[in-house]
Amino acid sequence: MSISLETVVQDLNTLLRPSDYRDYCPNGLQVEGKPEITKLVSGVTASQAFIEAAIAENADAVIVHHGYFWQGENSEITGIKKQRIKALLENDISLLAYHLPLDAHPEYGNNAQLGSLLDFKITDELFPNFKSKVGVRGELIKPCTPVELMQRLQTKLNREPMHVPGKAEVINTIAWCTGSAQHFIERAHDIGVDAYLSGEISEQTVHFAREAGIHFFAAGHHATECYGVQAVGEYLAKKYSIEHMFVDIDNPV
Ligand SMILES: [Zn+2]
Repeated sequence: MSISLETVVQDLNTLLRPSDYRDYCPNGLQVEGKPEITKLVSGVTASQAFIEAAIAENADAVIVHHGYFWQGENSEITGIKKQRIKALLENDISLLAYHLPLDAHPEYGNNAQLGSLLDFKITDELFPNFKSKVGVRGELIKPCTPVELMQRLQTKLNREPMHVPGKAEVINTIAWCTGSAQHFIERAHDIGVDAYLSGEISEQTVHFAREAGIHFFAAGHHATECYGVQAVGEYLAKKYSIEHMFVDIDNPV
């Protein structure tokens, strides 16, 4: 089966509502390829290695969380950016990219998908009054010790997480935001949860976690953002009977 690119773009605009967000990149169709999609390949980042893998898989379109044209970057299509876009255009492959809308979607989003993978139940948003600040708060369906949570992260994400210990001996409540949202630890502390989980960690976050007494888990930017885009790919594959595969280009960060 195949489906028109136009239908997919319209469907994702309705599903993910990009106009609700003030984002750092355009969300939606970033590079236009073939008018029909038979095979869709999803991935975290539209890197050269990812595009080469999509070409090898005969993709008609790719969908990613990290696309191109970020605020503040050079707008010229030169160097690495030229090589990536050239490969897409020469192979007539469309690039669909969704950033914040793909973090935040209550069912298919990165935060929702990571929560269900780790057995966390979402009880509210982290910033209920700010649509452009994504992140969620919730509770562990089965509360556990920090050491047990480390083991769970290691097993489910297949990557060694980093832990800065806090006060709670048993973790009942947690807030989380995938990717590079470590700075939301301050908000997590304000709302009084036992732990905060994100992808990345910086020097100052260690001090904040220690002094605030909140557990901090850095589970990997890439590792925490593999799930939203896969869920959206599966949603499209089921709805339109097209082929879908997720291509994981390993990233240690
Ligand atoms: Zn990210």
